[in-house]
This record gives sequence, C-alpha cells and structure tokens, in this order.
Amino acid sequence: RTVYVNGEYLPEDQAKVSVFDRGFLFADGVYEVTSVLGGKLIDFAGHAARLARSLSELGMKAPVDTDTLLEIHRELIARNGIEDGLVYLQVTRGAADRDFLYPDAETPPTLVLFTQAKPGLAEPDRAAKGWSVISIPDRRWGRRDIKTVQLLYPSMGKMMAKAAGADDAWMVEDGAVTEGTSNNAYIVKGDTIITRHLGEEILHGITRAAVLRLAAEAQMKVEERSFTIEEAQGADEAFITSASSFVMPVVEIDGTPIGDGTPGPMAARLREIYLDEARRKAV
Ligand code: PMP
Repeated sequence: RTVYVNGEYLPEDQAKVSVFDRGFLFADGVYEVTSVLGGKLIDFAGHAARLARSLSELGMKAPVDTDTLLEIHRELIARNGIEDGLVYLQVTRGAADRDFLYPDAETPPTLVLFTQAKPGLAEPDRAAKGWSVISIPDRRWGRRDIKTVQLLYPSMGKMMAKAAGADDAWMVEDGAVTEGTSNNAYIVKGDTIITRHLGEEILHGITRAAVLRLAAEAQMKVEERSFTIEEAQGADEAFITSASSFVMPVVEIDGTPIGDGTPGPMAARLREIYLDEARRKAV
C-alpha cells in the first residue's frame, strides 16, 4: 500500500512519524474518514469543512489547503486502485520536546493519509441483518464535537459490545443516548425520525447532516432531541449513520428487539436515498 506522509507518497513500510509526535504522546490530533464508492469520494466537502473546524477549535493550522487535500485523496485512491473503501486522514500538532504546553506556532503539523479497501462496502447484504447494540455509560471527554484521535473509550465500548455478542454500543449520559461508538444514533416513532440535537456532547456527523436534509426533502418528519434507551426500545425502528456504514438498521438494544426485530422500512428508504445521492455527487 502507498501512504502519504508530510508531502511524500511512500510504501507503508517506509513511512515514518517521530516518536515525539504529539499525536502519539498526547492524542493531540484530529482525523477524518471519507468513504470511496466506485473510486470516488463521498461528501469530501463536508469532511474537509469539519476538519477545518476541528483544527480551528484546537488552535491548529491547516497543513494544506482543501484543493491540495482533495488531490492527495485522489492520488492515494488511484495509486492503491481503490474501488470501494475508505481514506483515513490525520493531522497532529507535530513533533516537539514532550511538554503539556503546545509547541510554538511554527512547528510543522504532521499530515498522514492512507486508504483501506472495502470491497462491496455499500452492498445491500451489509445492512440486511441490522446491528444489535448494548448501552454503556458515556465516559468520553466533553468536546466530542471535535473529531480528535482520542478513541480509547470508543474502542473499549466496541470491546464491551463484542464481549456481549453485539455489534456496537450506544453511549448514555444523564439518562439520554449521546451516540454510538463511531456513529450517530436515531429512532423512528410512527412517521417521525428522532436523533439527538447537536452540541458539544456528540460529533456532528457528515452523514447525519445529509440524511436529515434528505429526510426533510422527502417530507419525512424530523425531531432533533434527546431520547432514552427505554424510549428507543419501545420505538418502531432504530438505526445509525456514519461515513463508513451509511445508514445501518439497529434491530436490538440491550437484548430487546426493536419493532419486530428486523430492519425497518424508514431505515431502508433512507439508506437508499442517501446512497443514491452520495453516488451521484461523489467527486
Ligand atoms: N459519532 C462518532 C463518535 C463518530 O466517531 C462518527 C464517525 N466518525 C460519527 C458520529 C459519524 O460521523 P460521520 O457521519 O461524519 O462519519
């Protein structure tokens, strides 16, 4: 695989980052994951805009402009022959003597990108069964709207889900669901789609924004508000959204089947209209 590190395209075994990199020592970095379907990027503009916001919230400079970033994404897709898959991007505050205080502003940031091939990423069979989820307390830090590389707790959450025989975990804070370990959470009651309002408590999903816009355009009702695990267990449907899973039905929460325990029609319709537009607008 060819990866990108600070201006160079290199075979992955020759790519190097300093042991003093602040991403490594302090999780002082941010990331994005953009899907690739048919060799093209899904919602690149949305991911680039969120990256700019994450960097600015942490007082970090953008290492390259958005046009260059798009070129790097495309070059990696081409060099690695990616049809369906992902491009992962990470920016850190760079390498400096270990100190809690940020290094001076001239310290060059570290920019790394690599691809992951995922043949059949958008195939219908991936969403045919739906996911089962468990609930766990949300023990992450308070600025989840910034897409930092501090992913230890979400990683623990996935391990807890796996140990329980489930596919993912929904995190709960002050009695309300915040989001999944790496996705936004939704329930459907009657003809209304309910998902948590934006704030510092959740990541502002790029897929979430597209799905809510498409739902409104299709005259579906949307409520952005908190909900509990109990309300979700009594809902007609549940689902999650993320750049890598698109719209994925959730069929069971803490062992309780949702609706009849099979993927629901609203999730199926949203997945279809989301993928349809995503493919048409891919760059
Ligand atoms: N919430 C969290 C915590 C995530 O890690 C992700 C995936 N990056 C999402 C939501 C979904 O965001 P997106 O649709 O932009 O992938």
